[in-house]
Amino acid sequence: MRIVAGTYHVEAESEEVLECSLRGRVKQKVGQQVSVGDLVQVERLDDGGCRIADLLPRHSALSRHGVARRREQVIVANVDQVVAVAAIASPSPDFSMIDRLLALAELNELDGLLVLNKADLAVSADTLDRPTDLPPEFEPYHGAGYDVLITSAKRDWGLEELRERLTDRITVFSGPSGVGKSSLLNSLMPGLDLRVGEVGRRKGRGRHTTVAAALYPFRGGGYVADTPGLQYLALWEVDPRALGHSFPELRGPADECRFADCVHRAEPGCAVREAVDTGVIAPRRYESYRDLLREAEEGR
Ligand code: GDP
Ligand code: ZN
Repeated sequence: MRIVAGTYHVEAESEEVLECSLRGRVKQKVGQQVSVGDLVQVERLDDGGCRIADLLPRHSALSRHGVARRREQVIVANVDQVVAVAAIASPSPDFSMIDRLLALAELNELDGLLVLNKADLAVSADTLDRPTDLPPEFEPYHGAGYDVLITSAKRDWGLEELRERLTDRITVFSGPSGVGKSSLLNSLMPGLDLRVGEVGRRKGRGRHTTVAAALYPFRGGGYVADTPGLQYLALWEVDPRALGHSFPELRGPADECRFADCVHRAEPGCAVREAVDTGVIAPRRYESYRDLLREAEEGR
């Protein structure tokens, strides 16, 4: 479903797209907005129009306020996974953005996958096969339990694996501009024709950043959500302790911290900081955690 100026574009089982209004009673009953990705029941009106009569239960959601659920704003309902896309080069990887997206996935209890595109730029032009070795700076993601998929939209490397990951699921695709998101999706979904652009300028992040969303049906089943702005979404109003939990490699050590409410900053007996000092946790991931912690605390 897509929402345009108060009109809800609902895809029916026949794949026909119905333009629906939202029945006032439904608004009251559900007490929340109907969001992109929601499953709804539609009724035909006598005048030939359609309206949403009921909202079916959600099995998951990507929300604006993580776990705090205060003034929750659902960006996409019924999502299964978040794919964070980065490029091996051009633009060079923005690790803090990758960590922000993966943390957002964890906070919403969604699977996170890292796609490392432009693998062709890491090898000479006559190389026929996709490089399989992960660049060392991406090892921590693997170590934290994330699948890292190496792709090249230009050379068609890794596209079949990506297609498999997307089939029959609702996927949010995000990352900085210029890493090849549109190129990957265009290769996987001929006819989609997303605009392939140049490496763009970074937009500011703000409390009022709006994150729009639209779903595109994936041939063979599933949907890909386009969510411009998601990569800049600030993690305000997130419980600092939930934030620690959203970095999988912090969870084990966090259990060993002296204080149960340790946020792993300067507390004595912090096993997370010890794990950073001994090289068990990658310093860069810990830095991202600290940045997001500061942000979460600012928003409180
Ligand atoms: P988006 O902003 O993430 O959607 O990125 P685009 O798909 O618009 O791609 C940005 C630029 O990178 C374009 O010039 C693409 O042609 C180029 N590009 C995309 N994928 C690859 C790739 O795998 N290898 C190389 N060398 N260039 C790519
Ligand atoms: Zn600690």
